[in-house]
Amino acid sequence: MSTDRDKALVVLSGGQDSTTCLYWAIDRFGPANVSSITFDYGQKHRIELECAREVATVAGVPNVCLPIDTFAALGGDALTDTAVPVSNGVDEETELPVTFVAGRNLIFLTFAAAYAYRHGARHLVTGVAQTDYSGYPDCREETMAALQLAITLGMDREFTIHTPLMHRTKKETVDLAVQLGALEAMALTHTCYNGQRPPCGECQACRLRARGFAEAGVHDPLLDI
Ligand code: ZN
Repeated sequence: MSTDRDKALVVLSGGQDSTTCLYWAIDRFGPANVSSITFDYGQKHRIELECAREVATVAGVPNVCLPIDTFAALGGDALTDTAVPVSNGVDEETELPVTFVAGRNLIFLTFAAAYAYRHGARHLVTGVAQTDYSGYPDCREETMAALQLAITLGMDREFTIHTPLMHRTKKETVDLAVQLGALEAMALTHTCYNGQRPPCGECQACRLRARGFAEAGVHDPLLDI
């Protein structure tokens, strides 16, 4: 019989990385012990929410979507603020990509921990990667270690944040997806910064995804939809 100690909650965005993580969690903890959480943070590309739901359905795990409408109110990033165009550019002041949503992963994982606390899970799984081209500071291993400590202390429960993709390149993430049988679900994912399915193929997110599949020698099923 499983216990709280065995239950895992995956932060599922509907993208390639979090979908791979969902299958990683199912492989590691067993399908009956895995559930997924998605955040409606006011992202311009609402299709992400639908993709997350579909991926969870195909994977056979529950999915809950929680609203956080504050990021859009903060403004200034390309994923929630309609005044900021999505581009491959960087913010001149911070030198971070315009697609950086300040605080996003910190808030997501804190809410995920709060949800996990209420639903008896101690394992949180997220698709953040240090190897990510963009170098988002909230994707770093150090940030995750500090956050794990903070939520463990702050909720007085021993949480573990799993980051299976932390040191994998995009090619290695594709290899892992193949190994875990997650390829079919890849057709349901969304990656494009322009919100397109099939993908635009031009934006940085599309190009990075395409390169990962090409290097792995695997055909991306998203291109066939
Ligand atoms: Zn694109």
